[in-house]
Amino acid sequence: MQALVLKPRVRKDIKSKVDRLLLELGNPEPPLRLEEVRELLELDLSFFSGESDGLLNVAFSRLKRAGKQIIKRPTLLRDAVKRFDLRALYLPDRKRILIDDEVPKPKHRWLEAHEIGHDILPWHGDMMLGDDDITPTPSVREKIETEANYAAGSLLFMTDRFKHECKDFEPTIKSAQVLKKRYENTFTTTLWRMIEYMGEDNPMFGLIGQHPSDYANDKPNFRHLIPSSSFNEMFEFPSIEHMTTTIMSYCRRGRGPLGEKKVVLKGRDGSRHEFYMETFFNGYDALTLGRYRKKLPTSILMPKLF
Ligand SMILES: [Zn+2]
Repeated sequence: MQALVLKPRVRKDIKSKVDRLLLELGNPEPPLRLEEVRELLELDLSFFSGESDGLLNVAFSRLKRAGKQIIKRPTLLRDAVKRFDLRALYLPDRKRILIDDEVPKPKHRWLEAHEIGHDILPWHGDMMLGDDDITPTPSVREKIETEANYAAGSLLFMTDRFKHECKDFEPTIKSAQVLKKRYENTFTTTLWRMIEYMGEDNPMFGLIGQHPSDYANDKPNFRHLIPSSSFNEMFEFPSIEHMTTTIMSYCRRGRGPLGEKKVVLKGRDGSRHEFYMETFFNGYDALTLGRYRKKLPTSILMPKLF
């Protein structure tokens, strides 16, 4: 499936909205405190449980009781949560963000930032689920979701700040760990962002998926393959089979750093290049980073003369 790519004009627009927000907050040091963002935007946050129908009803009717009809149509919302399997939602007319409490805590920050994204993009208000008259078509829905994700990333990584700070780091898992702590974002989103920025003119790639010792029948389930833009120019993404056998060849069991290895990849023009791969398991995901080392001499097989 081809991921939706936002037009440069839209990205610029979203970024400038986030920049203005950061400025109003006094350009704080990372990590960005989302409660401060919500305070500035006058947004409320509460939780629901998508796990059981009963709890979902209770969560929504409680909202109704607490604040004089906070939600006009709790059944409609419950149905929407079920139908779209929503883990979070935003009610524009109530300026309220709702997050499913069953989602693991480390993911709440992204969900919250995503819903804040819907709030700061004014054209989203009319199309959100709080409104039962307008049901967006799947393509419109995909577009506003992509925009909210872009806004969430811009917020959590504080637009250009992360990009500038990346310049002081080596492209390693260790750096991702330091930046993850500094910005208080997940390992996955940090590694992703790092590859995006550091990899503009430095070929690198990332793989995110299950622990290598859980690869079943050599069919690993990589959730994300992340080539940097310069990697994409010079190389084709290595085949899943190749990556599977390579990662399995150097990874141990357990958590933390699982192993590392030099590998040779062939460029689109047939030239050979050395990469350094390392994998880390954080308890949820195995994160692999491949970074460029050097170009290798082209090996020519000389015929024996005598
Ligand atoms: Zn959304």
